[in-house]
Amino acid sequence: MHDVQPEPSMSQQEFYLDSNATTEVLPPIAEAVMTALTQEYGNPSSSHITGIRAKARMERTRQLARQVMGADSGKVIFTSGATEGIQTAVISALQAARQAPLPRRPLLLYGATEHKAVPETLKHWARLFDLPAEVRAIPVDERGRLDLEFIAEHVDRALMICTMAVNNETGCYQDLAALERAIRTHNPQVPWMVDCVQALGKLPLALTATTIDYAPFSGHKLYAPKGIGWLYVREQAPFTPVIAGGGQESGWRSGTENGAGIAALQALFEMMLAESGPLADHQQLLAYRQTLVATLKRAFPELVFNQDHDCCVPTTLNFSVPGFSSKELMDLFDAAGIRVSSGSACSSKVTRSFVLDAMGLPAWQSESAIRLSFGPAMTEAELTAVCERIESAVGALATSCLLESDAVEDKFGLKGLIQLKAGSSCCWLYVDPDSDRCVVVDPLASLNERLERLIRCQDLVPVAILDTHGHADHVSSGVALRAALADRIPEQYRAVDELGWPNDCGTRRTLGDGQVMPALDLGSSVLVRAPLPGHTDDSVGLFLSREGRDTLVGSDIDFAFCGDTVLAGTLGRTNFTNSQPSALYHSLVHLSVWLSPDTLICPAHDYHHQFATSLAAECRQGGLLSQVIEGSLSERDFVVRKARLDEALVDEPGTELLCGADTGSCSAEPPVAEISSADLKRWQSEGRVMAVVDIREPHEFALSPGAGMDNVPLSRLVDFVAQNRYRLESDPLVLICRSGSRSQLASRSLRRLGLGNIVHVVGGYALS
Ligand code: PLP
Repeated sequence: MHDVQPEPSMSQQEFYLDSNATTEVLPPIAEAVMTALTQEYGNPSSSHITGIRAKARMERTRQLARQVMGADSGKVIFTSGATEGIQTAVISALQAARQAPLPRRPLLLYGATEHKAVPETLKHWARLFDLPAEVRAIPVDERGRLDLEFIAEHVDRALMICTMAVNNETGCYQDLAALERAIRTHNPQVPWMVDCVQALGKLPLALTATTIDYAPFSGHKLYAPKGIGWLYVREQAPFTPVIAGGGQESGWRSGTENGAGIAALQALFEMMLAESGPLADHQQLLAYRQTLVATLKRAFPELVFNQDHDCCVPTTLNFSVPGFSSKELMDLFDAAGIRVSSGSACSSKVTRSFVLDAMGLPAWQSESAIRLSFGPAMTEAELTAVCERIESAVGALATSCLLESDAVEDKFGLKGLIQLKAGSSCCWLYVDPDSDRCVVVDPLASLNERLERLIRCQDLVPVAILDTHGHADHVSSGVALRAALADRIPEQYRAVDELGWPNDCGTRRTLGDGQVMPALDLGSSVLVRAPLPGHTDDSVGLFLSREGRDTLVGSDIDFAFCGDTVLAGTLGRTNFTNSQPSALYHSLVHLSVWLSPDTLICPAHDYHHQFATSLAAECRQGGLLSQVIEGSLSERDFVVRKARLDEALVDEPGTELLCGADTGSCSAEPPVAEISSADLKRWQSEGRVMAVVDIREPHEFALSPGAGMDNVPLSRLVDFVAQNRYRLESDPLVLICRSGSRSQLASRSLRRLGLGNIVHVVGGYALS
């Protein structure tokens, strides 16, 4: 760690591949907006020349919108965007439904992969209108195509049906002609809305040749600014204005029109309708997709596309890479200067895509999806640069040993402790600093491939693959990992017990209270195993000392892998059939003798992103553990109180089994100190001495290094604490990452461990 002058900025050019979220405003469109704002700013309702000109432009734009949509009849109403258009369509249809006799068991139908704006609007207005209709999703197949038989069966009871032309996550387009047949054969009158937001500029449209009643659009998905959109309404469709007032837009949508937005649309439509110009045609877009697909497949040979390209617009790619979370890939692409989207929606703790779920794709694909989307203004030169960036990003992953590559020579050397996580479960890899020996603690099936790759790529010798106990929430993947690495495990360590401990471990060590325990020599470090029954009757503690003395007192033990015995803010639950709360009481007493207050306890679960804990950190927060250690709680009282805590633990069906009973000590989190990047620059220019640590992963750091900073990825945070404890207790330390979320977690965890002046940079590099 050294003091630095950081330059927290991503100096490289950025490539924006998130067009389905929004797009930049193209220069000619921005110019048109500027002219409208500064020169042609009249109110179309004014009868003077400035007003007349504004009105003429508005009507010209409406005509162009008709050409773009293939709609020579019907209304074209300028709106603030698609969400407003959707409200108008839904209110119009429901208002009409209220005035007619309702069918039996009425339905409001929408496609299961529709943008949330659609079902939420249906539910909202059905509730406000007191309409007793069920809002029902139309299922889709594995390609995202609507189930036409379901529609044929249910549409006769529908008060409205909402579908989308092109899906925003996958780019999947519907067969509108087939859809129309399914709808109209069984219900010629039902109001039908087709969300055309993602179709604009990607698919030819001919709306008046169809019986589509409503089609909302948003300008910002295709190079116009946010705040302007339009709604097409078929001639015969029911219509109710949503915004009443001065009677603008023929009384269909009151309020002074957005002249600058309309000017932007005019410029956009002229561009779209021009024979040639900056927008690529369909063939060109297909060629771009082909190049990107080839590059991605070369970069990630195991990549899986979450879409069928045969029924998707060429501008959206949605994929998952086995072994990588979408967060990891997002971070990687961001560091490479490529902006993509995780392609999934966050809901509480679970990050997955409801669109991919509705398509029935496997859970891992839904949880790890990446969406890469571009628009027709993409150029050949940009595409080439993006492909080069993807290749360099993947090169950086290979230097981290996260991807296989024979070509990589200067790999990052891995020494010390590495924490790997799958959800809230933790698995630990320890590499002896002076030899090539390593151990794995609490392996997890979803991380086996990554562990195997790391161990092979770093040329390590796995001496043991260990479990701290027989886990209740998963079967140990130790057997599979030992089989996968059989060629690298030394002969003498191959015969193991149930928890993976070698039958012939070769040595023993004495703990602080004089008890002699079996030990594994790892080179300069040693791993000692001691029983810790309670959570389960087979629970053990694995104590790692970087200096393998014969007798290990608490301060000699750097890391204690205690499985689910002590979790951060929590004790392991003791209401399994093989649990014993009284045994846990004695195990905790033993731990307080064997470990120092600051020994880093490395748990098998990390429910609150605290990485590791220590007896001192747990005691600072109070709770049962501190009372056991202080001797203020008898074994009997402990058992009674622990039973109460365990009773409060509710295992919800379908969710992760919780292994820890909350001791109620988690609430008193120390506050996290924050600074802005401007503060950081000022502090540095004032010469206030501090160390700045970039806590992104090494491959991110390699792609866009923070100038002069050290790199300590989150996976190495616990090791970093062990190596730098004395310094961290006094010196100020600034943590920075991509967006400020990892640095916030890390600084919270370090403070919880009692480590001094830690601050993090709010917004990270993103706001520098
Ligand atoms: N429909 C689809 C398919 C979309 O992708 C979006 C925006 O992401 C919307 C509707 C809502 O558009 P806006 O937020 O511009 O109103």
